[in-house]
Amino acid sequence: MRRDVHQHSLQPLKYQRHILSRPIIRVRRRPWLELIKTGIDMRYGKRLPTLSVVGDDSVTAVFEDGTAEVGTLMIGAEGAHSPRCQFLFHTAPREGALLTCPTVTSCAITKLDSKITAALAKLHPCLVSTVDPSGLLTWIGIHDSSPVSPTEWTYMILLSWNDPSDLTLNKLGENSPAILADLHSRVEHLASPFKEAIQGIPEGTKAWHGRLCYWPTKPWDNLGGRVTLAGDAAHPMTFRLYRGQGLGNAIADAAELQKHLQDMKAHTPAALAEVVRKYEEEMWVRGLEAVKVNLENTVAIHDWKKTRSSAILRSGVKRDAEIGVTRESQG
Ligand SMILES: Cc1cc2nc3c(=O)[nH]c(=O)nc-3n(C[C@H](O)[C@H](O)[C@H](O)COP(=O)(O)OP(=O)(O)OC[C@H]3O[C@@H](n4cnc5c(N)ncnc54)[C@H](O)[C@@H]3O)c2cc1C
Repeated sequence: MRRDVHQHSLQPLKYQRHILSRPIIRVRRRPWLELIKTGIDMRYGKRLPTLSVVGDDSVTAVFEDGTAEVGTLMIGAEGAHSPRCQFLFHTAPREGALLTCPTVTSCAITKLDSKITAALAKLHPCLVSTVDPSGLLTWIGIHDSSPVSPTEWTYMILLSWNDPSDLTLNKLGENSPAILADLHSRVEHLASPFKEAIQGIPEGTKAWHGRLCYWPTKPWDNLGGRVTLAGDAAHPMTFRLYRGQGLGNAIADAAELQKHLQDMKAHTPAALAEVVRKYEEEMWVRGLEAVKVNLENTVAIHDWKKTRSSAILRSGVKRDAEIGVTRESQG
């Protein structure tokens, strides 16, 4: 985990002036999952084709392998591509369907040449990003800095742009070499070290391309408080630079639901239904707000006219040293 006070390293640099932003915490997904699954009986490879709710107080999950689990509350936390349409919106599946955003993104995880990593580190110890008049957004962040030698560190590189047509999507599909070649060619006009970093992604590196999706959270039938959703399944959203809204809202869901469960006075189906109702009432509003704001921000940041009029480019930001923040002062 890295915790760094962040300076937005936006291009053109002349706009960087006076905005002090919040501390950033980057979390590596794999070790984080290892940590939070401690003490939990995890079973892998289970597929859930159907859900049955029998009686007043239980829900049964029947898996494809024929096994079944009975419980009082099922929480769907299977990410953006949740089968919520089948289960919670089965009477009106379109209500639960993912919507597409005009923005597409390509991504790769890679090691970089030490000269490039040194140049990136000078701008920021953790991550840098650029926007430019062509509407291209680049984002380069340390993905794994656990190896002792920085030359072994990996970086996540993301490029995104608005493309309402499916032109690039159809052209690139899942063809990793084509996606990488497209990444290399798109950054020809960028300044150093961004161009070098992206063009430095070695041939043969796996790259992905896809369209960003979202779902404006809306109330569902929780089957008497026995089935609910959390995390991206409940509020799949596009990105909003540096806010950590996806993970933040997933953690907020877990905290909210746990708080209400702990406060239960009686362990009855009615009390559980009340807990789920309270959780959902707060989460539906919070989730929808995050999805909406993120969508607006995602589309705007790829539109140079809108980006230019944003506070961050009009006012700029300061470097850590200029605002008196050092590694020591971060505690
Ligand atoms: C490239 C990228 C970068 C991101 N960067 C950030 C960031 O910097 N900050 C931030 O806050 N958020 C970020 N996000 C969003 C963040 O990853 C998600 O908001 C967060 O992971 C949501 O957690 P979740 O547990 O709800 O879903 P997920 O992390 O998607 O986990 C869902 C799990 O369910 C499993 N699953 C799926 N279907 C089924 C099924 N049918 N049965 C059983 N299991 C199933 C999946 O395999 C997965 O393990 C990023 C997302 C992407 C794609």
